[in-house]
Amino acid sequence: MKTSALGRIALVCGVAALAGGVVPGAAHADDATVEKKILPVMVEFSDSTFQHVDAVKASTPDTYFGTKADSVASFFKEMSRGRFAYVPAVKEQTAGPITLSLSAAGCDHGKINTLTQEALAKQGLVRGEDYDSLSMVFPAQKTGCPWAGLATVPGPYSWINLYGTAGGLGVVGHELGHNQGLGHQGREMCTDGDLVDCEADGTSAKSIMGGGGPAAGFSAPELIRAGWLSGGEAVKVAESGTYTLRSLHGEGGGTRALDIPMGEDRLVIEYRHAAGTVDARIEGVHAYRVPKGAYGSSSLIDLTEENETAGNSAPSDADAVTTLTDTASRVSVAVLASGGGKATVKVALNGESLAAGVSDDTPEKAVNPEHTASDTDAGDGASAAPAASADSGTEAQGETASGAEGRSGDAVRATAGNDSADLAATGAGPGTLPLVAAGAALVVVGGAIVLGRRRKRA
Ligand SMILES: [Zn+2]
Repeated sequence: MKTSALGRIALVCGVAALAGGVVPGAAHADDATVEKKILPVMVEFSDSTFQHVDAVKASTPDTYFGTKADSVASFFKEMSRGRFAYVPAVKEQTAGPITLSLSAAGCDHGKINTLTQEALAKQGLVRGEDYDSLSMVFPAQKTGCPWAGLATVPGPYSWINLYGTAGGLGVVGHELGHNQGLGHQGREMCTDGDLVDCEADGTSAKSIMGGGGPAAGFSAPELIRAGWLSGGEAVKVAESGTYTLRSLHGEGGGTRALDIPMGEDRLVIEYRHAAGTVDARIEGVHAYRVPKGAYGSSSLIDLTEENETAGNSAPSDADAVTTLTDTASRVSVAVLASGGGKATVKVALNGESLAAGVSDDTPEKAVNPEHTASDTDAGDGASAAPAASADSGTEAQGETASGAEGRSGDAVRATAGNDSADLAATGAGPGTLPLVAAGAALVVVGGAIVLGRRRKRA
């Protein structure tokens, strides 16, 4: 797979960031709630202020900490099933507006970060002590930033280039997904059913990181990366067998994902079904390729011609898997049953026969519980091969509900404050193209530019 120089640099910096302890560790799936103190701060420029500052002041606490399901805090609580929580760093919940001695033009996110932290320090708010994560919200009108949001992957910083008066979960939730170590989720078309023949094409539409918006939540590999599935929930498949999956999201027990060896990569299988506030439009068993163990950089494996997106009217199970094979690693999967909240999946490893199992009434066998999500998660960033760099990707969202910004993403690399970090932008720009889906990304990014400009004029 082709890798840009930028991608290689991003990889190096990602490793350095981990070694330097800049990146907070992932939550351990079996621990109590991991709380992250996040400080949303309103930032204005010497030559550009919020047009409706009172409205921004009123909406920002709601966006991040509101009790409604579409707040960032609610979303992450639901997605992690209580394992992770964004909590306010200050009792007022947000800080600012702070006026920086900086012109808006040029979109200097590194300087915005540095100056914002300096101003906060003067107020007695120090990163690492008073807050863990910093989310800088500023008026978009004069910045020229080619994105709606930008974030370190992983890391503590996000930038919200705000049009209007509220950021919305679609953008802010996506950026904080980057902070969890998640890149953009692409899609591979493998329409002949064999995973040795796949072509990168677009985004998964199965995740807020893949153009699915908040209504799609996160996918199974992303939950593994974040450390939000226990070993019993994300089962590492070590031998052929038949497995029962419950829906990926929602309360209750059971296996939520199968994590299958596939050569140097992993194959992750999930069953999606409406649960809580997500997946009303996603049904069926879905498969993902995890390149070289980088769970934050997975791609949907799509064997269908239907090409579901968040914006079209394809059926909710349009991209669902019924059977697939990877002839290279001699792994096969067949869905024996799917629907009503659970699925039965047969996995054959080492070239063993899948067909025999399909016609058998093979009793469900005990699964090997050796795997814990956080074990595999631990090395994700550090061991990521260039192909797995999170500093890539794109998505387009057709979200209209709740004003969630339909954007596409693209990645840039830059210096965030004093920390060298990987950044992923939601929006359009001239950065690196995704290492997968590069061709389609150009088109999508172009569309987003139009969207951004339209909003600007509105
Ligand atoms: Zn993004």
